[in-house]
Amino acid sequence: MKRIFTCVVCPNGCEIEAEYEGNRVLSVAGNLCPKGRDYVTQELVDPRRTIATSVRVTGGTMPLASVRLTKAIPKNRIFDAMREIGRITLEAPISIGDVVIPNLLGLGSDVIVTKNIPKA
Ligand code: SF4
Repeated sequence: MKRIFTCVVCPNGCEIEAEYEGNRVLSVAGNLCPKGRDYVTQELVDPRRTIATSVRVTGGTMPLASVRLTKAIPKNRIFDAMREIGRITLEAPISIGDVVIPNLLGLGSDVIVTKNIPKA
């Protein structure tokens, strides 16, 4: 089979034309580095995505704080993860790097803050 994959490993976003059989990659074209082939293999075997979103903050100078995952999680768990993240409200002050949910859903990825929000 042939399919085009957009590599998300780095900002180049290479469009990779891959030929594969089941989970086995036969050939790739269009990738600027070897990580592209690894990405295609990962997509076939266990597609993963990361999340960057916001959570509510009380008592701070801003009502929302940006957060992200420390590691990509299985694509089919993204909605569960978003639901879990949506449940939390942080109390200011908060700092970049604060872990707000360790080991999200047991998937080995933490949710961390990416914005400083001082107390109002
Ligand atoms: S193939 Fe390499 S250069 Fe292209 S997007 Fe992926 S990691 Fe970046």
